[in-house]
Amino acid sequence: MDPIHVTALTCLLSDPARVLTQRLVVERLSRDFYWYSPVLRRQLDGKVGEVVVQPLSATEIQSVLRYCYAHGLAVTIRGAGTGNYGQAVPLRGGVILDLASMDRIEAIEPDGVAVCQPGVRLGTLETEARKVAWELRCYPSTIVKASIGGFLGGGSGGIGSVTHGGLRDFNTVRALEVVTMESTPRVVRHEGEAVHDILHAWGTNGVITRIWLALAPAVDWSQCAIAFGTFDAAFDFSERIATGERWTKRLVTTFEWPIPSFFTPVQQYVPEAKSLVFFLIASQQLKELESAASAVGGTVAYSGAYYGLRTTPLLSDYTWNHTTLWALKTDPAYTYLQCGFDPVKVREQMQLLRRRFGLEILFHMEFMKNGTGQVIPGAIPLVYYTGEERLNEMIAFCRDIGVFVANPHVNNVEGGGRYRADNVQLLAKMRYDPKGLLNPGKMATFRPEPAAETVTPR
Ligand code: FAD
Repeated sequence: MDPIHVTALTCLLSDPARVLTQRLVVERLSRDFYWYSPVLRRQLDGKVGEVVVQPLSATEIQSVLRYCYAHGLAVTIRGAGTGNYGQAVPLRGGVILDLASMDRIEAIEPDGVAVCQPGVRLGTLETEARKVAWELRCYPSTIVKASIGGFLGGGSGGIGSVTHGGLRDFNTVRALEVVTMESTPRVVRHEGEAVHDILHAWGTNGVITRIWLALAPAVDWSQCAIAFGTFDAAFDFSERIATGERWTKRLVTTFEWPIPSFFTPVQQYVPEAKSLVFFLIASQQLKELESAASAVGGTVAYSGAYYGLRTTPLLSDYTWNHTTLWALKTDPAYTYLQCGFDPVKVREQMQLLRRRFGLEILFHMEFMKNGTGQVIPGAIPLVYYTGEERLNEMIAFCRDIGVFVANPHVNNVEGGGRYRADNVQLLAKMRYDPKGLLNPGKMATFRPEPAAETVTPR
C-alpha cells in the first residue's frame, strides 16, 4: 500500500497509535481459525492485509470508509478472528478494520435486550447479563474470546440453541446499525426481518456498529457428563432429553468413542471405551436427570455446579467446534463437517454413513432447535482427512441420503450453506458496497456495478 494512504488513515483517527503497520501484528490480525480445514489452509495461507485500523466509533468508521471508497482500498472487518472459514482473512490486502476496541455494553434494558457495540466479547455480555438475571440465548463455544459483531457476521448458534434456536431464529437479533461503504457512508438501521440482510454476510455488506440482542431469563445451571456402553444408548438418551419439553437445558452433546479420549484436561471423567453425553441442565432437574440416565444404563461420569465461564472443568469447552480442536491436537489429520440430520431418519442415516465410510467419520451430535421450533440432531462430525476428493464424496453422500451439510471448507458466503435463497445479503451488498470493497472475494455472486449506487435505498 502506498505509504500516503497510511499517513492519511492516521489523520482520520483521534489517536494515530490506532493505525498499525508492524508486519507481525498485521499478519496476526489477518488470520482466523481457517486452518481447521486442510482445503482452506491451502487456499488462504499467506493472505495478509497491509494496515490495521482500530476505530472507536461509527463516526471514525465513516471517515475511514469514505477514504477507502475514494481510493478503492479493500476493507476486511475483524471482530476477534475466531471464525472457522477464513471469513476474516483478507483476500486482496488492504485495510483490516479491527473493531475489538468498540467494546461498550450501552445498556441491558429491563425487557432483556442488550444494546452493544460490536467489539463486546460475548463472555463479557453473558457475565454482565447474569448480574441482572438475564443470559445469552445462544453462544459459540468460543464465547470467552468471540465478539458479538463477529457472531452476527459469521456465526450461527451453539450452546443454548437446543432451547432458543440459532442466532437468526426467534427475533434474537432485534436490530442493528451498519455503516455503508459509499462515497458518503451512512449509518443505516435494520430491524425485524431486515436484520437478515446483514446477518452471516461475513462483513461483505456493511460494518455493524450497534446491536440490539434479545436475552433469556437467567437459569441456575449444572453440568453433567453421562457415560454409556454404546453410542446408540447415548444417542437415545440425549435425544429424549433434548426433545423432551419439560427438561430445561442449555446443552446436549453426544460423543462416540474415541472422541472423549481426545479431551486431555478432563481425562479423569472419561471412562475408557464409553460414549459420553454432556449436559447443561437446570440445577433443580439434575438429580432427576441422573436417575433417568441410570435407569437406562448410564453412569454419571461427572456432575457439578456451574458458576459461570470460570467454572472448571467447563464442559462447553469440549463441545461444538471445540471438539474438533481437541481432535486436531491429538491428530492433525482430523477435520470436520457441519450437518443437520433428519430427526426421523437419523439412525438410518448414521448407519448408512458408518457402512460407507467406517471410522473415517466419528459422530459428534449437537441438538438444536430449528426455526420452526423442532429440536433436531445437528452434528459436527469429525472427519479423518485423506484428501479433498474423499471429503467431497462424503459431502455428496450426506446430501444424497438427506443429511444437510453446511460446508465449512469453502471461503465464500454462498458456498457455506447459510446463504439466504432470497438473496437479501447480495441485494444489501449492491446497495451498501457498490464497488465491492468490503471483504472482496467472499460474496461469490456479487459483481461490482457502476450503476449499483443508484439502486434506491430501502
Ligand atoms: P471474526 O472471526 O472476527 O469475524 C467473523 C466474520 O464476521 C468475518 O467475516 C468478519 O469480517 C465479520 N465481522 C466481524 N465483525 C463484524 C462487524 N462488526 N460487522 C460486520 N461484519 C463483521 N461459531 C458458532 O456459530 N458456533 C459455535 O459453537 C462455534 N464454535 C467454535 C469453536 C471454535 C474452537 C472455533 C475456532 C470457532 C467456533 N465458531 C463457532 C466460529 C466463531 O468462533 C464464532 O462464529 C464467533 O462468534 C466469531 O466471532 P469473532 O468475533 O471471532 O468473529
